[in-house]
Amino acid sequence: MNGVIIQFFHWYHEGNLWNEFVEKADYLKELGFTAVWFPPATKSSDKIEGRGYDIYDPYDLGEFDQKDGIPTRYGTKEEYLQAIEKAHEKGLYVYADIVLNHRIGGDEEEKITVHEVDGENRNEVISEAFEATAKTKFIFPGRKGKYSDFIWDHRCFSGIDTITKDQEEMKGIFKIHNQYGTDWNDAASHQFGNYDYLMGADIEYRNPYVVQEMKNWIRWYFETTKVDGIRLDALKHISSDFLKGWITYIKTEVKQDCYILGEYWKDKIEKITEFSEEMDHQLSLFDVPLHYQFFTASQKGADYDLSSILNDTILKNNPALSVSFVGNHDTQKMQALESAVQNWFRPIAYAIILLSENGYPCVFYPDLFGAEYTDVKDRVKKHIVMPKVEILPKLLEARKRFAYGTQVNYFDHPNCIALVRTGDENHSACAIVISNNGEGYKEINLGKEYAEAVFYDFLKQRIDTVVLDQNGKGTFKVNANSVSVWVKGQ
Ligand code: CA
Repeated sequence: MNGVIIQFFHWYHEGNLWNEFVEKADYLKELGFTAVWFPPATKSSDKIEGRGYDIYDPYDLGEFDQKDGIPTRYGTKEEYLQAIEKAHEKGLYVYADIVLNHRIGGDEEEKITVHEVDGENRNEVISEAFEATAKTKFIFPGRKGKYSDFIWDHRCFSGIDTITKDQEEMKGIFKIHNQYGTDWNDAASHQFGNYDYLMGADIEYRNPYVVQEMKNWIRWYFETTKVDGIRLDALKHISSDFLKGWITYIKTEVKQDCYILGEYWKDKIEKITEFSEEMDHQLSLFDVPLHYQFFTASQKGADYDLSSILNDTILKNNPALSVSFVGNHDTQKMQALESAVQNWFRPIAYAIILLSENGYPCVFYPDLFGAEYTDVKDRVKKHIVMPKVEILPKLLEARKRFAYGTQVNYFDHPNCIALVRTGDENHSACAIVISNNGEGYKEINLGKEYAEAVFYDFLKQRIDTVVLDQNGKGTFKVNANSVSVWVKGQ
């Protein structure tokens, strides 16, 4: 059905996002979107700086007066639920962003025992165990036990970044000693020794009460919001055992048809494959290696070998699980994982993800609507303008109208490649031709049924037409550093 997701936010988005979605839902439907990924609706520890990834209270979707007011950065719970309802009215699936790894903004201090570890190797202990105080108690005073009376304390956390010792605040990575031991959870990633710890108060998933609470919560979340799927944040930092059990619980006892999409941020396909196997392939995964191919291609220009663009990607190795994307809120300029695909290459990258036979493409908000923002990174203040990808609506239309049938790759030249979709009984073939250097061309045989057919560039980058010969063969051109989508004319 050629589904396509819109990531309906970016890091610097301002204003009420839920209401904006309601306004734009008709347009998104018209463009051919079939699903929307919303940012975390859960209450942040900081209303101004927070994006929801700094999660404070998972049961507060903008309903309680906590952490500087009732609404979140994106609006109130009521507005969130209205946005979901609107999406459903339009036939769009909704995927909620779920943060499982940590909590931030504890309400009360507790006395705890910790030791400090080396940030570069979390298995290396760099201090003796000592007593300190830290804000590890979450009582959610504004919610007053509604939906859940679970109180989080130091037994629910494995590590923290801020403690107080002898009235002095200390920053670092501190392993909390609890009844589950003095070592970390076995995280899905062993980067930095053991990447269980990411930020804030790290959740202790060896605690069975925590596991039960997170099951109760996700059931509540589905019942309350009626979302169709979830996007799971930061899976590198979570115990695979917990994750597998929790996902199995959802799929067997809460919502059998739940769509689950994981953010497992690794650029190496081997690591991703390993993780997917551990999860029994129950999750779709963001195609991070493909994103890095796009990023590298955009930087290297003509020095990049286009015929290698799908190498070592999920799209090629495990296509059914690939969620292909060009950029997101973490890769955009000034952000932590900054690896923004350069503007000239974005139309090419979108042509590849939107017109490929495989993968579930995800379009990033600023690429459709544009974005402008200012931020400070490495003490330098910068004003960033992300122009929209002008041709994106056309590519989305091309996906709806022409992206059918088997895909044949003509990956026979480092600077000019073509992807051909052979069409089906209701749709004729199309040829996507891409160049990362000068003007290029590709000789393509579409078969006798296309004898003497006339093709034109649906994207209008080329104004000439191609007339195929009696065998259905023709030469399809592309401009320098460009993409053309050749389709059959009338
Ligand atoms: Ca963790």
